[in-house]
Amino acid sequence: MSDWTDLIQATTVHDPLSGAINTPIQLSSTFNQKSWDEFGQFDYARSGNPTREAGEQAIAKLEHGQYGYLYSTGMAAISGVLFTLSVGDHIVVSKKVYGGTFRVVEDILPRWGITHDFVDFSDLEAVEHAIQPNTKALYIETPSNPVLSITDIKGVVAIAKRHQLITIADNTFLSPFLQKPLDLGVDVVVHSATKFLAGHSDILAGAVVTNNQTLADKIYFIQNAVGATLGVLDTWLLLRGIKTLGVRMTHSSQSAQKIADYLLQHDKVTRVLYPGLARHPGHNIHAIQAKSGGAVLSFDVGSEDNARKVVSALTIPAFSVSLGAVESIISYPPKMSHAELNPEELANTGITPGLLRFSVGLEDVADLIADLEHALTLI
Ligand SMILES: *Cc1c(COP(=O)(O)O)cnc(C)c1O
Repeated sequence: MSDWTDLIQATTVHDPLSGAINTPIQLSSTFNQKSWDEFGQFDYARSGNPTREAGEQAIAKLEHGQYGYLYSTGMAAISGVLFTLSVGDHIVVSKKVYGGTFRVVEDILPRWGITHDFVDFSDLEAVEHAIQPNTKALYIETPSNPVLSITDIKGVVAIAKRHQLITIADNTFLSPFLQKPLDLGVDVVVHSATKFLAGHSDILAGAVVTNNQTLADKIYFIQNAVGATLGVLDTWLLLRGIKTLGVRMTHSSQSAQKIADYLLQHDKVTRVLYPGLARHPGHNIHAIQAKSGGAVLSFDVGSEDNARKVVSALTIPAFSVSLGAVESIISYPPKMSHAELNPEELANTGITPGLLRFSVGLEDVADLIADLEHALTLI
């Protein structure tokens, strides 16, 4: 079945009791058991409930996975996967990961005796070189936040398989509509479902999908034990958001491509980072593993002062953290998503003082470009 049909079928499961074509919101923390001898599928809602299960099956289907899990936030999902590691384990992590992931890997896991190396995953030799006898996993994010750096997913998977490691991929930036890491051999996909999956800047949510039953059992154990599960109202909103994922991703990525082309020829813009541009490092690899460049781009206006002027002059995008919504969002990573990084780490990650990240929404692209054109005349 096509991805378009999957999106609707995964999120529109008829309720056998009433025939309702939207998943019922089952607000119940506990479930009555039929008898002393006969327990039903659900007992306590942290362990599982029908609404969350519908959402978990939907995200699993979209990522072409068998087992799906939903969490209260993306960081809860990512932590839920990383907490399957044990004292003495080592992981190799892309040095261009989301700031919150960086914080868990750098500031929490080492306290539990789980060590790591941050590596530039565009250099596969460096990745292989970082593997130690106690390495258990490779962790990637492609395109990465906020510099849109591309990782060769199949190349990383080949290394992981040679060393019997698992590969974990953060697929937040593209969503399963544009990229399916499990199809390329990745073991676990993680998401901030807060972003494109939910799509409306209304809820926080996280997701994990895998095809590996042993891993799924460990992930479920942690999900149930730690308890950072997605609530049923938020699950319903997530399912509603996913129904329009295809139209949103298609429209926003077409607009992002036009905006990237526009910025590229602008003399006040020193750098445009967008995987849909033929000149973007990793463009050819990206074109093989993803359907389009996605809806997020970053561009450099030369200095923090210029970035401030541009942001102050723009009238359409919200100036905020987050991305992946119906409205365009402009953000300044050094003060926002990557405020955790010190100046040296920022430079190391390619986050220059004039870098702005633009998450393209559903507004008319001509209006967005006119807004940018006006703002850029002020620097
Ligand atoms: C936002 C984000 C996260 C964290 O998700 P939350 O829902 O904010 O906890 C993780 N990875 C990426 C790529 C993100 O953009």
